[in-house]
Amino acid sequence: MAWLCCKACNWSQDEFWSEDYTPLDELARDYSREILMRSETAVVEKWIAEELGQSYEMKGDLCHVSWKDYMVSVLQEAENKVKNMRFRTEAEYHAYKAVNGTKCPVCGAVDALVVEPY
Ligand SMILES: [Zn+2]
Repeated sequence: MAWLCCKACNWSQDEFWSEDYTPLDELARDYSREILMRSETAVVEKWIAEELGQSYEMKGDLCHVSWKDYMVSVLQEAENKVKNMRFRTEAEYHAYKAVNGTKCPVCGAVDALVVEPY
């Protein structure tokens, strides 16, 4: 488990793929069944609805967005994770690091790649 980012550009990657994890596994596990079987709305934090540019309705302290808008945003997030991924596996990252050190894989800045385990 690791968070990778560049100090020089805005690229980041939040995970390596493994036998136990891909972004699609995360979708299936955390979102799709629950959201698809839900009634009309999903409850999210207000800043999420605003960041997604979705219309929302406040009911007390709870921010409701349509289940369809929420599902689209979840799919877009998964798409972005795949698009931003430069190292599918930790082994790919170590092979890159052995040749390139901490050079950013996106902008090429030297000594810019940061890896934080979590
Ligand atoms: Zn960079």
